[in-house]
Amino acid sequence: MCISFFKERRELSNSITAKERVFLSSPHMSDEGYEMQYVQEAFDTNWIAPLGENVNKFERELAEKVDSKDAAALSSGTAAIHLALKAADVGEGDIVFCSTLTFSATANPIIYQNAIPVFIDSDYKTWNMCPDALEEAFKKYPEVKAVILVHLYGLSADMDRIVELCKKHNVALIEDAAESLGTYYKGQHTGTFGDYGIFSFNGNKIITTSGGGMLVSNNEERISKARFWATQSRDRARHYQHSELGFNYRMSNVSAGIGRGQLKVLDQRVEKKNDIYQFYKRELSGLEGVEFMPMNEWDRPNYWLSAITLTGNVRPVDIFEALEAENIESRPVWKPMHMQPFFEKYDFVGTDISEKLFENGVCLPSDTKITDEQLNRVAEIIKGLW
Ligand SMILES: *Cc1c(COP(=O)(O)O)cnc(C)c1O
Repeated sequence: MCISFFKERRELSNSITAKERVFLSSPHMSDEGYEMQYVQEAFDTNWIAPLGENVNKFERELAEKVDSKDAAALSSGTAAIHLALKAADVGEGDIVFCSTLTFSATANPIIYQNAIPVFIDSDYKTWNMCPDALEEAFKKYPEVKAVILVHLYGLSADMDRIVELCKKHNVALIEDAAESLGTYYKGQHTGTFGDYGIFSFNGNKIITTSGGGMLVSNNEERISKARFWATQSRDRARHYQHSELGFNYRMSNVSAGIGRGQLKVLDQRVEKKNDIYQFYKRELSGLEGVEFMPMNEWDRPNYWLSAITLTGNVRPVDIFEALEAENIESRPVWKPMHMQPFFEKYDFVGTDISEKLFENGVCLPSDTKITDEQLNRVAEIIKGLW
């Protein structure tokens, strides 16, 4: 029995190598081994934890890259959103406008703060927060405390209009730029338009620290406050003294070492993601009912994921199934928050645009390690459905 078990295992692993899985977006360390150099430094100096040189430098290097005054390295993008809400003084019973078409991590921290989300629809022009729906929401809830928007799949939201609306209503703006590191709007990096911006270094993002996040802001006082909260709100005292609620949200010095190495290859990653997008566009845009995610004249996207919508006879599920049969990963577009069982009791302002994007959307494999041969295979499988 044992022997046949091992034989089966061997056969299974052989068949896996025969058709190696093609991922949607997976970790991709630098060819030069930058990450290991910084991680090695952490080991050599025994600064495995807590904090240390890599954390300080990763904060500086990322802040410089996106041209923000200050940055706090944290354990996740979700933690960064949580502390951004706290920094914006969002608390019990406060209303927060939130993009509905996003990953739940954008919305969950609103609940951590006992605040109340109101979800805002997308528009077709950006797939991101619709400024008209936002304007309508301001009329309905003039007492709103903060707005949190997302830059989905590395496409920027319509920042001029949204920033203007937030200024007019004197409301804090938080940008969830978890998916848009390397994306610029009119030459300015996403995540730096609002009062706070956040980035994620989760394993599927354009660069990764194995897990981590960053909070950026031009308000250095608030960033230093966020660092304080993130290290259990320890007051300056010899004994352990706490005057505020604390969190264990800091990034480790080992993770930050990986992040410093990854930051060096961010531009290469954007370039490769762009190539992938251009390839799909060439191969698939002639197919009936296929439309590509929107590109605006102001956008310089990072092309984190290449996404399309389908309005003809071929449905998203046909693509998911055909690719999965060949061990290739693809995904639906995010299911809107106002359609989620956990969030559906909260209000929503808009029409059916995000719902339609969810119903018709497909995120294509956009892994930067994908080979030309694999890309061709993906295109052939998809074209075979028409
Ligand atoms: C990944 C992601 C996050 C959360 O980041 P974590 O580092 O995984 O906590 C938040 N918002 C969006 C839009 C994301 O894609």
